[in-house]
Amino acid sequence: MAEHLIAGSKYTPEDGLTGAQLVTSGSGLTYNDFILLPGFINFTTDEVDLSSPLTKHISLKTPFVSSPMDTVTEANMAIAMALMGGIGILHHNCPPEFQASQARSVKKYKQGFIVDPVVLSPNKTVSDVYRIKQERGFCGIPVTDTGDVNGKLLGLIAARDIDLIGKDRSVTPVEEVMTPRRDLVIAHHGCSLDEANHILQESKKGKLPIVNENDELVALIARTDLKKSRDFPLASKDDLNRLRVGAAVSTHEEDKTRIEVLVAQDVDVVVLDSSQGNSIYEMEMIHYIKKAYPELQVIGGNVVTAAQAKNLIDCGVDALRVGMGSGSICITQEVTAVGRPQGTAVYKVAEYARRFGVPVIADGGIQNVGHIVKALALGGSTVMMGSLLAGTNESPGEFFFQDGVRLKKYRGMGSLPAMEQKGSMARYFSDTDKLKVAQGVSGSVVDKGSVYGFIPYLYAGVQHGCQDIGARSLTQLRQMMYGGELKFERRSPSAQVEGGVHGLHSYEKRYY
Ligand code: IMP
Repeated sequence: MAEHLIAGSKYTPEDGLTGAQLVTSGSGLTYNDFILLPGFINFTTDEVDLSSPLTKHISLKTPFVSSPMDTVTEANMAIAMALMGGIGILHHNCPPEFQASQARSVKKYKQGFIVDPVVLSPNKTVSDVYRIKQERGFCGIPVTDTGDVNGKLLGLIAARDIDLIGKDRSVTPVEEVMTPRRDLVIAHHGCSLDEANHILQESKKGKLPIVNENDELVALIARTDLKKSRDFPLASKDDLNRLRVGAAVSTHEEDKTRIEVLVAQDVDVVVLDSSQGNSIYEMEMIHYIKKAYPELQVIGGNVVTAAQAKNLIDCGVDALRVGMGSGSICITQEVTAVGRPQGTAVYKVAEYARRFGVPVIADGGIQNVGHIVKALALGGSTVMMGSLLAGTNESPGEFFFQDGVRLKKYRGMGSLPAMEQKGSMARYFSDTDKLKVAQGVSGSVVDKGSVYGFIPYLYAGVQHGCQDIGARSLTQLRQMMYGGELKFERRSPSAQVEGGVHGLHSYEKRYY
């Protein structure tokens, strides 16, 4: 039926602009400046395949990347992103050992197994248990001789062990009231989640410690987590079936040791984190990494022009991060007068880089799911998000209330507060700079709930966009764009107003 309809018409009406016409027709464009014209639908949204390359050798099933910012990506975010088919890039505004420990947590993650559980030493008191219960909301806590995971398991302290202890809390040591090791049900390292689940069911306990052959604690399983456990068919995994993770590093000489400790944790990709990536420092670092670690994928950037991209591609980068001045927390364009509107930047770099098989990450300025569709339609292979993922349960930091609204802190890595912590300085300064000039701001974003709910919404939204366009996959979307079949149109300021909610007295905006 569909074929008959298409074949019946010999005349193809010309309408709209091709990608090339769109970006060459005048000034630089942001995502809001244009719209995509609809195509023909002969498939359902859930047939749309969003697989896309992150780098030359790593492909993702979900084209989403979390930004290396200290209010966006640490281990929890990176685990969630990888489980949902994307990837998290760990920030480097911290000592190399901390960043490496975050990478280790992602690589060691096994669904249902808590590999970095809260642990107490035997001389801690019942007050400490109450404090943890209040702060973290649980109190089935293993006790080891070192007070750490990897220590010898001595016991476990649960709610009912401390229920009846009143005023002596602060002097009663944990070892006096805990269930001792000899009475604990445990499982051995290497057991499958199904086996552990079975043991937990039989024992009717809330927590199951996993120990190695030396009786040292290696992980913990919680009954509540098992109940929540579900499948992640899109998960990004390496050849050894471990979750994938990326890590940001600077182009400074001393970060060669950071790279070494990250490689020791088997990170899949490093991102050279520089706001203007076309520099001798970055080029030298790419040469160094490619020689020292030929297997490691390297993402260079940031760039916004083909000329910048050329230098990094010639050095052998495996992907490019595109964006300068488009981030929500960014004041780079205001301060340095340098940058480029993001839509044009993505198109120009991607159009050049594709000749060399180098994928492009559209980084910054993504405010909604439609912007993701536009970034991908302009040639981006994946999108990197900061503000959209900050304020989720999985981003670092605590929620707080302001004027009755639940918020989390979100700050630019070039903001003064972030730069006061060593690490992000490298992105925005050279060693010789005397005065710190901020290129970002520090603020807050509203609570977005969990990434496990939010990413499926973004994913489904992009599938809907592709369906309206008539693209069954992101590969087809790019083919349609470069082949001139995908049509765009610029939007006047009033068209942009028309494209949003308007003319209502009041409304509630709920996304999913
Ligand atoms: P967002 O998704 O619009 O919030 O942008 C996030 C992106 O902004 C990051 O991935 C970085 O490329 C960029 N960025 C992070 N911190 C700063 C800053 O302080 N100044 C300028 N750009 C920044």
